[in-house]
Amino acid sequence: MNRIDRLRPLLDEPLLVTTPVNVRYLTGFESSNAALLVDDERALLFSDFRYAESARKVEGVEFVEVERALVRGLVPHVGDKVGFEATNLTYASWDLLLSAGLELVPTSGVVEQLRAVKSNDELEAIRRATEIADEAFVRLSGEPFVGRTERDLAHVFEEILHELGAHGPSFPTLVASGPNGGTPHAQAGDRVVERGETVVVDGGAVVDGYASDCTRTFATGKLPDELARAYDVVLEAQLEGLAAVAPGAAAKDVDAAARSVVERDGFGERFGHGLGHGVGLLVHEAPALRPESDDVLAVDNVVTVEPGIYLPGVGGIRIEDLVVVRDGQALVLTSFPKELVTVG
Ligand code: ZN
Ligand code: ZN
Repeated sequence: MNRIDRLRPLLDEPLLVTTPVNVRYLTGFESSNAALLVDDERALLFSDFRYAESARKVEGVEFVEVERALVRGLVPHVGDKVGFEATNLTYASWDLLLSAGLELVPTSGVVEQLRAVKSNDELEAIRRATEIADEAFVRLSGEPFVGRTERDLAHVFEEILHELGAHGPSFPTLVASGPNGGTPHAQAGDRVVERGETVVVDGGAVVDGYASDCTRTFATGKLPDELARAYDVVLEAQLEGLAAVAPGAAAKDVDAAARSVVERDGFGERFGHGLGHGVGLLVHEAPALRPESDDVLAVDNVVTVEPGIYLPGVGGIRIEDLVVVRDGQALVLTSFPKELVTVG
């Protein structure tokens, strides 16, 4: 069954899909200015002149060329009542549709729910993206770290991804050394890596549109006791989190399985982000593994498990694997070792 046919049973009324990645998922059509209207019988793809040639080639949809102000152009094609994607449609577009006399029904997460369960082709692309990133971690770990800037190491990592055939990095590679690792989302900057500290490297590859995501934390020599202890705690938490990944598991319980280890060891305050997230066309998508998540894991979800401990002014540790939810044990895609690797 194609993706649009899988979407139809989830709809109470026609749905206007405006989120670019959702349009792309449902049609294979990639454009910065496109929308898709799905009802019981039809799927209308709207875009402007610039994309008309490629839009006409999309199978299973009827292409309607509209003006560049897309939403105004599609109004005549919408019935009286339509669902819209509340997390994407702008207030201006909503206002325009309302002024045209349409009854508007907010929806959220409908296409995202389909995207969360991967097909074999999608799993294959993610597996290849993970393999490339794994090899990039292997090669990067053979490089000297001390005396180089974070930015330099990030560049090296991305160059390796490119050499190995990645279509791009999943996101700008994060390299956070020493005290810079003390916050979860530090960017790679001008800091020069020193001896005896941690270096958090978070990166991934894109293959056929699908992302991978992996974090490893390296040591440049002997670590201060607190960091060395934190590494063991994060590793134990990561393994507990992995063990809790199963179809039917509440995402918040998987988060709790890892978080309780970090809390037990007194680092609870220093975790501060969710355990993980879905990965696919986007590097952050459903399901969310967080304490406040209502998501429930299903077979063929692809999720990260990435606990961390961040010690302000000292350093950070995060270990992240990408896994496929399977009956029984989750299938871990990431293969780079998780024991502390010391680099030069
Ligand atoms: Zn990551
Ligand atoms: Zn991640």
